[in-house]
Amino acid sequence: MTEARQVVIVGSGPAGLTAAIYSSRAQLHPLVIEGEPSSTSDQPGGQLMLTTEVENFPGFVEGIMGPELMQAFREQAARFGADYVTAKVSRVDLSSRPFGVWVGDPDAIEPTYTAEALIVSTGAQSLMLNLPNEERLLGYGVSTCATCDGFFFRGREIAVVGGGDSAIEEALFLTRFADKVTLIVRRGELRASKVMQQRAFGHDKITILWNHSVIDVLGETTVTGVRVRDNVSEEESTLELSGLFVAIGHQPNTGLFKGQLDMEENGYLRTFDGTRTNVDGVFACGDVQDHRYRQAITAAGSGCMAAIDAERWLEDQRAEGR
Ligand code: NDP
Repeated sequence: MTEARQVVIVGSGPAGLTAAIYSSRAQLHPLVIEGEPSSTSDQPGGQLMLTTEVENFPGFVEGIMGPELMQAFREQAARFGADYVTAKVSRVDLSSRPFGVWVGDPDAIEPTYTAEALIVSTGAQSLMLNLPNEERLLGYGVSTCATCDGFFFRGREIAVVGGGDSAIEEALFLTRFADKVTLIVRRGELRASKVMQQRAFGHDKITILWNHSVIDVLGETTVTGVRVRDNVSEEESTLELSGLFVAIGHQPNTGLFKGQLDMEENGYLRTFDGTRTNVDGVFACGDVQDHRYRQAITAAGSGCMAAIDAERWLEDQRAEGR
């Protein structure tokens, strides 16, 4: 049987849960479809579930663990009446209102839920190297976010993998903390823009290891080194270091909306006039529509915007008798 809701929020990171706090306080009784445990996390809750300590979220003088912060967001929204379902959305139909949202069998004729307004906060994920120990040491020396974790590597030797603008940006940022940053590049040239390349070449704390791939991450409880392979000679060697930042690109979780919501060339959802998408009544917030800032606080801010936009839009619809 289909359950009719006013507001359905897809995704349960800082953006989705902030949208849930605001829309539940606006008495819209939102349903958060929070996702499912995945290969990289045993709980839904977005990328913060993969982080250890978060020190830059305002209000937490001593910092807070990522999963603890997400649990607090979740409970705060529940207190005002948000409901949660632990499932993945398998299909959406945005062609008419109310929108159809399926969990489970995507071929079922009737949707599992209908929504008068839909808030998309499905986030993005960092591309990973897919190495055996990389996942195990994520948050324990392996990181995908220099802004979040750089501070923990004061005075240490670390490496960044990747040769694009992100990798160089991360490496430059990390020089503020680390004594030495090795940029591990799989080819003999960088993909990054010339201006970023010059910044990396000219930096006395950055060393570039050309034509090398990381083939394993070493360490029992925290990272102690990486195993690399020379892609020309095929020789393998070990680099001793205490942190590995993977910066080989991000991928927004937008597959579900292909052909229905407008996207940028890089797959991120296109928003305008706040958090509106090309479909009236569908709003997007957080990393799924932001490849520039990608911070918990900016995601939360845009989640608040999406809830306010959805609330006003629903009010306008009612006023117009639609
Ligand atoms: P990119 O796709 O531009 O670069 C990814 C890099 O990672 C490439 O050098 C690629 O190598 C390397 N890579 C991919 N897979 C692997 C792997 N398995 N092992 C080792 N290396 C790998 O992604 P970015 O995130 O850097 O940038 C995305 C977009 O955002 C770009 O358009 C970029 O310009 C923009 N951006 C701009 C910034 C700025 O202007 N300040 C900052 C950050 C991003 P290869 O080159 O061999 O394919």
